[in-house]
Amino acid sequence: MSLIEIENLRTWFPVRQGILSKTVGYIKAVNGVSLSLEQGETLGLVGESGCGKTTLGRTLMQLEEKKDGTVKFEGDDIHGLKRDQKREIRKRMQMIFQDPFSSLNPRMTILDILTEGMLHHKMIKKEEKKEAAVRLMTEVGLDENAIYRYPHEFSGGQRQRICVARAISLKPDFMVCDEAVSALDVSVQAQVINLLMDLRDKYELSYLFISHDLTVVRHISNRVAVMYLGVIVEEGSASAIIDNPKHPYTQALINSVPVPFSEKKKRFVLSGEIPSLLNPPSGCPFHTRCPEVMDKCKETVPEMKKVDNRIARCYLYD
Ligand code: SF4
Repeated sequence: MSLIEIENLRTWFPVRQGILSKTVGYIKAVNGVSLSLEQGETLGLVGESGCGKTTLGRTLMQLEEKKDGTVKFEGDDIHGLKRDQKREIRKRMQMIFQDPFSSLNPRMTILDILTEGMLHHKMIKKEEKKEAAVRLMTEVGLDENAIYRYPHEFSGGQRQRICVARAISLKPDFMVCDEAVSALDVSVQAQVINLLMDLRDKYELSYLFISHDLTVVRHISNRVAVMYLGVIVEEGSASAIIDNPKHPYTQALINSVPVPFSEKKKRFVLSGEIPSLLNPPSGCPFHTRCPEVMDKCKETVPEMKKVDNRIARCYLYD
C-alpha cells in the first residue's frame, strides 16, 4: 500500500456571473489526476505557472475542496474521515509555502511559532516549550538562542528553515513543498534543499515537491510528474523524465533550461501562452502548441500509457 494514493482527482472552481451569481463555467485546475507516493519518496511535480500544480498540492492538504476523485492516506480516504481522524491526518500532512515571510505570524516569537502546533495537538506541555523549540532550531541549523526573536529579524533562508522546523515539529509523514526554495538566492536554495533531503532520509519523509525549476527537481526527486492544463502528461523516474523526455511538452520544458540539459536536445522551445483552464482545448490539451500535432490529437484525449520506462499521454507512441 502506498502512503498517498490519488485517483482521478478533480478540483474545479466555479465561475459565477450576474446578480444571481449563476455558474457559467468551471476553471478545471485539476482535471483527473492519478498519482501515488511511497514512504520516504520525493515526487517532483513540474509544469508552467497556471497548470494546476499548486491547486493539486492544496487539495491534498484539504485547503481546497475536491470536486471528484479520491485521496487516500495509508489506504484511508482523507475526505471521508471523521473529525478526530481528520485532525490526526492533518498533523501527519504538512505544507511549506513559497513565501516564508507571509507564512509566519509577524507578532509571534519563534518560540511560539514552533510550539503552537505541538501544544494544540497535546504533543508537549507548556513547560516543555523552550526545550522543544531549541531542539527544532538545532535540527534545522539555526541558533537556539534566537527563539525569542520575531520573523522579521531573520533572512529569507532562515525564515524558510523556521517554516521547515514548524512543519517537522508535528512529526509528519508527508509534506507538500510548494515552490519552497523559489524565492531564495541560489546558494541559500542549495542549503534548504540539502536540509530537506537530510530530514527526508532521517525521518523517512515523503515530499510532493512542486517547482518550475527542473534542475532543483532533478536533484531532490526520485520520480517526476509533468503537469499541463490540469492533467499529468508524463511520469517516471527523475532520470528518465529529465534526461530522456518522451512527451513533446516535457521536451519543450527541458529545452527551456539553459544548461546542461538542453545542449543535446531538439530545440523546440515553448511559445505562446498556456491556454485557459476555463476553456481547455479539445482532445490533447497540448495540441495548440505541439510541433508534432496530428488530426486525431485535436479530437480525442490520449490515454496515459507505458512508453519505455515511464508513462506518457501522447499519440506519437501508439
Ligand atoms: Fe502532441 Fe498529439 Fe502528442 Fe498531444 S497527443 S503531445 S498534440 S503529438
